[in-house]
Amino acid sequence: MREDLEQLKQQIPLLDYLQRRNWAGCRIGACGELVGLCPLHQDTRPSFYVNDRKNLFYCHGCQRGGDLIRFVELSEHLSFRESVACLKQDLVMVADAALLAKTVAFYQLQLHRCSEAVRYLRHRGLRDPDLIAELGLGYAPGGNLRRHLADFGYSFDVLLRTGLINHQGRDAFCRRVIFPCCQQGCVINLYGRSIGTAFPHRLLPRSKGALFAWDAVSAFSSVILVEGLFDVAVLWQAGFRNTTCAIGTHLTPVQWSQLCDQPGRVVYIAFDQDSNQAGQKAARLLAGRLQSAGLRGRIVRLPQGQDPNSYFADGATASDFLACIEHAESL
Ligand SMILES: [Zn+2]
Repeated sequence: MREDLEQLKQQIPLLDYLQRRNWAGCRIGACGELVGLCPLHQDTRPSFYVNDRKNLFYCHGCQRGGDLIRFVELSEHLSFRESVACLKQDLVMVADAALLAKTVAFYQLQLHRCSEAVRYLRHRGLRDPDLIAELGLGYAPGGNLRRHLADFGYSFDVLLRTGLINHQGRDAFCRRVIFPCCQQGCVINLYGRSIGTAFPHRLLPRSKGALFAWDAVSAFSSVILVEGLFDVAVLWQAGFRNTTCAIGTHLTPVQWSQLCDQPGRVVYIAFDQDSNQAGQKAARLLAGRLQSAGLRGRIVRLPQGQDPNSYFADGATASDFLACIEHAESL
């Protein structure tokens, strides 16, 4: 365990980790030290020191310091165990980001070649070509990804490990619309929605990562949380840019701490209004949890049987949805 942790810290140098999160430091002296603004408190004069050789940090402002794991505990408000899990995920993310970016680019090209995929998007109420490009949507027709990626030197084993192909070498995503899930500019997972008869939802076998598009949504003091990526897409299209999604009703510890990173934030929970009440039950539980954490959870009710995507696909307008938001209930 101890050796594992040492290895993890060597594999992710503290400075690299900080720089990927846009920390900028100036080198001072020749001892591998850098100084910059502290990411852990409201800093006005640079008081955060990083020792690049020892992989340690110390802030003279908030008087906190330690190694990479300690930094993740403090910055993400996670336990020690959760921080280690988060870093392991970070490692996979960096290793596979280039491969997944190439995969996404390939699927994006396929989208415009497959009329059935474009028809499917229209059927789900997605019409805006700029938004489709912005979200990086693609289409996996199935049957040709491995050959394409082999041209870039990716081996069978690497593709199998990432879950892009199965043991027979066939594409894992087949006849699916693909949404790339990004975090700090890296593609860290792919969500594929079947347009045929296969099971509707599919992710690569790894963490679903951060809240969707959190880099852009986190600035809002009120956010709309939905279950699915098609819900996000139609709400963005209708102008509700403060919409995000955990892909499902369950939030991972990282997603939960993201949602809580602004005290007093209002979270409009717009889960599916399904007949078995699963979405509404999950919404009530989450609203209660948010309330206890000092946030304001509001439950958005849609007409029976609808989710935000189907509501818009059936002709609802932005002002119809706004009315639902205005009538959202607190617990
Ligand atoms: Zn500090």
